[in-house]
Amino acid sequence: MNNSSENSNQGNILIVDDVPDNLRVLSTLLNHHGYKVRNVIKGSMAIRVAKSGFPDVILLDINMPEMNGYEVCELLKSDPDTEEIPVIFLTALDEVMDKVKAFQVGGVDYITKPFQIEEMVARINNQIQLKNAKTEIKKLNRDLEQRVSDRTAQLEAEIVERKKAEEKLSFMALHDPLTELPNRTGLMARLDRVFQRVKENSDYMFGLLFLDCDRFKVVNDSLGHLVGDQLLKALAQRLQLCIKSSDIMARFGGDEFVIILDDIKNLENAIEMTEQILNQLSLPFYLNDHEIFIGASIGIVLGTKEYQDSSHLLRDADIAMYQAKASNKTSYKVFDREMRDRAVQRLQLETDLRKAIERQEFVVNYQPIINLKTGKIMGFEALVRWQHRERGLISPADFIPIAEETGLIVAIDRWVLQQACHQLRVWQREIPQAFPLSISSNLSVQQFTQTDLMQQIDRVLSETELDSQYLKLEITESALIENDRLAQTMLEQFKKRHVLVSIDDFGTGYSSLSYLHRFPVDTLKIDRSFICRMGELGDDGSSIVDAIVTLAHHLGMDVVAEGVETKDQLAYLRLIGCEAAQGYFFSKPLSSELATELLSKYPEW
Ligand code: C2E
Ligand code: MG
Ligand code: MG
Repeated sequence: MNNSSENSNQGNILIVDDVPDNLRVLSTLLNHHGYKVRNVIKGSMAIRVAKSGFPDVILLDINMPEMNGYEVCELLKSDPDTEEIPVIFLTALDEVMDKVKAFQVGGVDYITKPFQIEEMVARINNQIQLKNAKTEIKKLNRDLEQRVSDRTAQLEAEIVERKKAEEKLSFMALHDPLTELPNRTGLMARLDRVFQRVKENSDYMFGLLFLDCDRFKVVNDSLGHLVGDQLLKALAQRLQLCIKSSDIMARFGGDEFVIILDDIKNLENAIEMTEQILNQLSLPFYLNDHEIFIGASIGIVLGTKEYQDSSHLLRDADIAMYQAKASNKTSYKVFDREMRDRAVQRLQLETDLRKAIERQEFVVNYQPIINLKTGKIMGFEALVRWQHRERGLISPADFIPIAEETGLIVAIDRWVLQQACHQLRVWQREIPQAFPLSISSNLSVQQFTQTDLMQQIDRVLSETELDSQYLKLEITESALIENDRLAQTMLEQFKKRHVLVSIDDFGTGYSSLSYLHRFPVDTLKIDRSFICRMGELGDDGSSIVDAIVTLAHHLGMDVVAEGVETKDQLAYLRLIGCEAAQGYFFSKPLSSELATELLSKYPEW
């Protein structure tokens, strides 16, 4: 049935006609024009061949038994497999043209008998091109749809990514990356919400705990920041276990945490929680083979509607926390009004202290230190005084801690050192009979840890033209021990320059003589509290002083007893071989004029 042609294939044609002669004639003609042709004589066969995918065009006779051309066409056009195949009806002129034209669907044409082969070929080609164009358009549409859906998916993924990034950003803005707790900003937002509840509901109350770790800096400095970070994380986790889910916990900064205790009934609730937290924190942390104990101080404030602003709550909790830290009895304090007054006063003092340096309100007093063997003055301790414009003389005990906290101490100490060295040099020149004398100047921890301390001292010595061997620096034990390595190098540099070093207030800190042995220290000053507890010979207070003197001598240090007030104390100190003493028994700290007067008289005790 198939006729072939040597020409390249112009297209596959299926001819459907019940008259074999027609088929033969037509297929021969089309073969000649380069088409591949299949002939069938029945509609049902035509549909089968069409479904096999063979034809590009179907030439369909209308008048056929069984199934006429219209019916065949209808079946073809209603089947998705064949609907696209163009159909050209082969009609006699007298056949009903309207019926042919009624096939509104695309891809239906007709040609009237008798056929002109050229017209036939033209129509076939026309249909094939139309079909190809349609296929092409369909393919383009499909591609386009695919691209649109790909791009849509891509955009959707991008949107999801961007959303995630935005969420991460806003999380980061409100949270601390280390502990993942709300940060200060996050806390303020939450606190405002809780505070709003207080205003709306008079029965509602909350507690605010301000927690600050004790000696966290020591962990950081000794074990490193990585362990410090781990500790903060572990601490946050432990705290989280103490609170209920509706409570809010935030990292306020460094080693400070804030906890909002939601919906408490009274102050006792807040105190109970605080005690539980402190209990938990008293258990050790185990990190990197280290057993770490870290205490905390907590300030407590009740969130009631008496507060105008949520930030005031934080301020007051902070004040209470500081009070807790300063007290050595408890680790927590509940805020009260007096605390705020004290804090305001303190702030005032701090402001005044800053101005005091410019206004030159400081003066140096000199307290003699007596050589107990000779009874002569062997030196003076320079002690700073603050002559406040309105409040009069302020004791160093009241302002040195503030100066230390604010860092102002560095400038004060530098100034005192300068004054003291200058004073000694003046005495050297003017009262030579009183010599040798040394001058002791106190060094705060901050001053001690200044990287250019040695240069500062060198400068003062050269400006005042004082020989370094007459300068003695008083440093507390804790300043040495807490800055172990730095202390070692610093003290070695002092030694090189023959600057002497005293350990001040010995007995109030670590009291570890064996530890101090590692530092090149010349003198140990026994704290006043030991001297004043010294009673009759042989009692407890005396035997402690005795033991300290013996140990100090053993380690090659000489000893100065501070705060000697009585003849008995002096007698005992002489008996046990203490080299020197300082105290009201001999003299209170004196102004430079009075000290000059005393020296000129050259007294002996
Ligand atoms: P400190 O270095 O231990 O000084 C000795 C303190 O004991 C002085 O108190 C002195 O007046 C007092 N004192 C001396 N003898 C007696 C006594 O017999 N009985 C009693 N009750 N007290 C006596 P001050 O001058 O009030 O100084 C207190 C602390 O302030 C000093 O203790 C020192 O730690 C610090 N300080 C004083 N001046 C300076 C300074 O220029 N720089 C630094 N960083 N600290 C200073
Ligand atoms: Mg001192
Ligand atoms: Mg002292």
